[in-house]
Amino acid sequence: MRSGKRLGLGLVAIWWVLLVLPAVVAFSPSNSWDVSPLALLMVTVWAIASAWFAAGPTGFFVLTYPFALFGLCAAWAGVMRQADLLEILLLSGGPERHEALTALNPYWMGILLAALILALVAAGAIRSLPTRSPKPRLRAIAWLVTAGCALGFAMPMIFFRAWPVNVMSLALAKLLDKRDFLATALPYGAINPRAAGQTWKASRSSGAPSGRETYILIIGESVRADRLGPCGGNALLALRHEAITFCDVVSGASGTHLSVPLLISRDSADSAPRVSSDATFMKAFEEVGFDTYWLSVQDQSIAWPDAMHSTYLPPSAPDRETLIGPLKHALAAPGLKKLIVLHGYGAHFNYCDRYRPQHALQAVECRGLGALPVRTTRPQWLSSYDNAIFESLAFVDAVIDVIDSVDAETVLLYTSDHGENLLDDGRNLVQHALATPTLWDTRVPAILWANKTWKVNHDSWWRALGANQKAHAMHGDLTPTLLGAANIHYEELRPQVVDLGRQRPGNRIRWVKRRLGDTVDGDKL
Ligand SMILES: [Zn+2]
Repeated sequence: MRSGKRLGLGLVAIWWVLLVLPAVVAFSPSNSWDVSPLALLMVTVWAIASAWFAAGPTGFFVLTYPFALFGLCAAWAGVMRQADLLEILLLSGGPERHEALTALNPYWMGILLAALILALVAAGAIRSLPTRSPKPRLRAIAWLVTAGCALGFAMPMIFFRAWPVNVMSLALAKLLDKRDFLATALPYGAINPRAAGQTWKASRSSGAPSGRETYILIIGESVRADRLGPCGGNALLALRHEAITFCDVVSGASGTHLSVPLLISRDSADSAPRVSSDATFMKAFEEVGFDTYWLSVQDQSIAWPDAMHSTYLPPSAPDRETLIGPLKHALAAPGLKKLIVLHGYGAHFNYCDRYRPQHALQAVECRGLGALPVRTTRPQWLSSYDNAIFESLAFVDAVIDVIDSVDAETVLLYTSDHGENLLDDGRNLVQHALATPTLWDTRVPAILWANKTWKVNHDSWWRALGANQKAHAMHGDLTPTLLGAANIHYEELRPQVVDLGRQRPGNRIRWVKRRLGDTVDGDKL
């Protein structure tokens, strides 16, 4: 091979590496719930190959030059400063953008130097490369166009998020105000994807009570069903209050960031954005005259709830100590009809931090547990996990004590966002939100409690609910069930979900969202 041609190919290889680099470092998803990094990389390679074949050597380097420079800067900002350059440019405006540009000041010389080196590499490659014959080139273009159409159609969320397609698609999404796409593609940007004006077209029959009503949803953390007494676990892991417990509920995902948005929305597991632009079930309550509250010790950005009143607190103590106060405050506020969601920290790892030793079910020497469970310490870890579940249930009991003292028709629904792995099989998995969901981190309980007045007035619904207790339920059924309990009719977009107080679910696939754009059958885990 002539040395000029060899040099040209070497420079082309360097150029390709520079173009692919941002896909691997700056724009590669870092969350386990996010789209597959390999799929994104595939689209990146497709985009560069398309430019390579569609344009001649000169055209390719001219066309990709701005991307090579921007990519280099983005990769550098990502690795050295943990900053997302695209996010800064797209989301910050006014003084924030000025601040971002000022922060670049020490690096302008470096950027100019990089621009110059890139220009030299491009010029060298263009000079050394021979002209390509048109026939194979046309064939390659035809293949690439077909592959691009297939990729874009089959996985649009991946296609439009992949570097360098994302530069165009994000700018366009910003222009068109497609916030659900922006919020998913820039997971650390403070973008609320919920669009104003969304409706559940909710209505209520004329026989709805005129007095005080309180509906409560408690979203717990990391509590799997099989540990609970009514589900075959320790008999002491049960509510003090009489309730109906569903033990076979499949959560929408094995991690908080995917499961909570699904739990409160009308989205199915295969929905493309992480949080959609649709309103949540709280909108249906609001549309029939309820005041809605979201009281949480977890971040707003997990599900971007659209409650009328919200309170966010740090998870600095067990839920009983942080959330009962705001609950009492919400109950004391004016208004006869209230829907209150409590999003707790339940039994999240590290379990010992979730309860006070004096309230524990069993004594555990927390300092002797080590950082992560291993085979030899598993029994003690299970004890500390059970203690955290015991505290989670004590929180539910405490909420019931508070709401039962209010003169209202009251229903409470508790579930956990997902389950937990604790070295349950040969895979030796611990915690949740892993690459693949498991039986242990997707089987959660659903507990329903209603006060005496409510049960008297809704006897047949409550008895039907009790009769369905052994049903194969899923998270998607839960807000329809709570809305059904309140006799609220609304436009349901998912044909597969049921109100468990009116219908026993038949045969259906209980989908689990493994990551964005990827679902698995929850009964085959
Ligand atoms: Zn969680």
